[in-house]
Amino acid sequence: MKVNQAAIVISAVSKKQYPTEGFPEIALAGRSNVGKSSFINRMIQRKSLARTSSKPGKTQTLNFYKINESFYFVDVPGYGYAKVSKKEREAWGRMMEEYFQERDTLEATVLLIDMRHPPTEDDIIMYDFLKHFDIPVLIVATKMDKVKKAKRDKHIKIIKEALDIEPEDDLVTFSAETGEGKDEAWSKLSRFL
Ligand code: GDP
Repeated sequence: MKVNQAAIVISAVSKKQYPTEGFPEIALAGRSNVGKSSFINRMIQRKSLARTSSKPGKTQTLNFYKINESFYFVDVPGYGYAKVSKKEREAWGRMMEEYFQERDTLEATVLLIDMRHPPTEDDIIMYDFLKHFDIPVLIVATKMDKVKKAKRDKHIKIIKEALDIEPEDDLVTFSAETGEGKDEAWSKLSRFL
């Protein structure tokens, strides 16, 4: 995929603000700090369009990035940050349901998992939530440069087993640091666009 154009068009707090062109959308979900902003920036070859290390706990928005005037990446607020109040967690949950349950143009979701560690309980809940709504999922195992080559297969197996990933869902390993996995991720995502 050659990305010629990428721009954030709206940080939405409610569905009234979602874009209306009807372009296909790929959502991106994952724990805070998993490397989601770094993934987006690497995929679209921008140094810092998506903020990295954005502070959790601030206003939670769905960020819509329009790409090549033909589709959207939708950056979903990270989860699993311990210091979030009950009220904030509830607001996050409502936002997730409103988007994932009702958005007709959502074609697939990238679920990012830190390859260094087994999936957390929150990761498993997120995957199950997406499958509950029959949303195709691409698992992206991030920070692969931090896992020794000899250990990668073992880590992938642990992730697949913990999530109990369905046969139609793929997993790609990825490094925002080196760019490894970028072409494979685009090729897996292209079939949804
Ligand atoms: P987000 O909270 O999920 O958006 O995570 P960020 O993209 O801000 O990344 C969190 C931290 O992990 C930052 O310090 C990044 O530099 C680092 N990081 C993200 N992706 C990679 C990667 O592929 N390799 C390495 N080594 N570090 C990464």
